[in-house]
Amino acid sequence: MMTQKVRAVLAIVSISCCLGAQNHVIPADKRAALDHISAASMRGHLSFIASDALEGRNTPSTGLDIAAEYIAAQFRRAGLEPVGDDGYFQTAGYAVAETPMESFELKLRSGGETVNVPASQVSFSIEEALNASAAVFKVDYKDAAALAAVKPDQIEGRVVFTEIPNYRREPRSRWMEMYRAQEEFTGKMKTLKAALVVSVDRLSATGSGGGAGRLIDPENRRTVPATAGTPVITVHDPRVVKAYDAMKPGPSDVELSARVPAQIERPVKLRNVIGLLRGSDPTLADTYVLLTAHYDHLGKGPANGGDNIYNGANDDGSGTVSVIEIASALATLKQRPKRSIVFMTFFGEEKGGFGSRFYGRNPVFPLNKTVADVNLEQVGRTDDSEGPQISNATVTGFDYSDIGTTLKAAGELTGVTVYKHEKNSDAFFSRSDNQSLADQGVPAHTVGVTFLFPDYHGVGDQWEKIDYSNMEKVDRMVALGLMMIADNPQEPKWDASNPKAARYLKAWQTHHNK
Ligand SMILES: [Zn+2]
Repeated sequence: MMTQKVRAVLAIVSISCCLGAQNHVIPADKRAALDHISAASMRGHLSFIASDALEGRNTPSTGLDIAAEYIAAQFRRAGLEPVGDDGYFQTAGYAVAETPMESFELKLRSGGETVNVPASQVSFSIEEALNASAAVFKVDYKDAAALAAVKPDQIEGRVVFTEIPNYRREPRSRWMEMYRAQEEFTGKMKTLKAALVVSVDRLSATGSGGGAGRLIDPENRRTVPATAGTPVITVHDPRVVKAYDAMKPGPSDVELSARVPAQIERPVKLRNVIGLLRGSDPTLADTYVLLTAHYDHLGKGPANGGDNIYNGANDDGSGTVSVIEIASALATLKQRPKRSIVFMTFFGEEKGGFGSRFYGRNPVFPLNKTVADVNLEQVGRTDDSEGPQISNATVTGFDYSDIGTTLKAAGELTGVTVYKHEKNSDAFFSRSDNQSLADQGVPAHTVGVTFLFPDYHGVGDQWEKIDYSNMEKVDRMVALGLMMIADNPQEPKWDASNPKAARYLKAWQTHHNK
């Protein structure tokens, strides 16, 4: 294996060897447009988009709304056509389910004393109304043997008192395992007919209340409950933690009562941001190439005294500012590309591709005239878990369509190696918004520099850690690739010989009445 230093030296050699050639091959006007893509400009944009002030751009949140306004402002500055239903915004009517906390109540009675836990010191997500008042049975969450020995008559109708660790404070690699353990625990409590699980949290004295904000897509409602287990209320009140510590595992004469009102749905407006650079060819201008990225991220985690803001600079602030920057650069072209280019940033990707699925159901431009979607994810960091990715870019589902080959050719002209990652390219196809467009038959892929990087979905994904000069280079490749697709009278095609592309080809045929 090469050392990092050898890789870096090779990269520099390859840049200088290709500069001459690229001036040769890329026409001067296009070259000039590509030169507008600037590391410094993107650094400026991202230092705002990924700032703490936007609180991690959760869907929905004020931070997300501010990010949308910022993106729209940059589209306006570039002179893109506003093609949403409200200027640059495509508005989606969603709902958020929250518990009306003014009717919430939680009391712990021990000896002659009653602790009234304030709504600000609990966290939970319970959909149905719940009333519980019972004696407390303490279970040591970490003691598997004790848990196995618990008898049904000890638990039935009781409030189970325990301490479930918050997986969101742990490295992302442990989340799934910890989440499963929690599901298994609450599932067991359900079988034993526990009335409620109350979990203490000693690391934070404040909670998120019952308003964690479950997002509801009105056209696509979930029909199964979120959890099959007994509901859990996490209590952050230090007085309750103290009472917990004073108890021995097993039955007690401590009593707990809880009243949780049913969740109420509040309508919320979510917005994709969308701008158009109209094509120049009389016929092809009515066909569309999409450049997309998601502008949301994970929001804030539980307060723990330290940093609890998931800034999402690389995921996917990097894609967002790249869309802004490439739009601004291509808008300077005197001779526009033949096809129209649509620049769009989606809400709700982290919650499950909500924004792109909304667009797929409500396309602004006909899907049978949308010839490609190039989606950008994680194009800023180069410190991949498999080693530095300088002047490299990868395409998911690389050979599902011929877009991978086009981007590879664009990479050869701009000094970027566009490659298929043998293990990850196909596996990551479904992990971003390109999937929503592919489901509608549009040849759609995600371009990224890293698959996994340190700080992935962590609070450390901050704008200072981005490799802006590499992102500038990769974005020039993307911009050139877009122009190549937009100028080519042949539209991109799914590969009919690739079985993995079969369902997308079928969707394409449906939209084209073939
Ligand atoms: Zn993500």
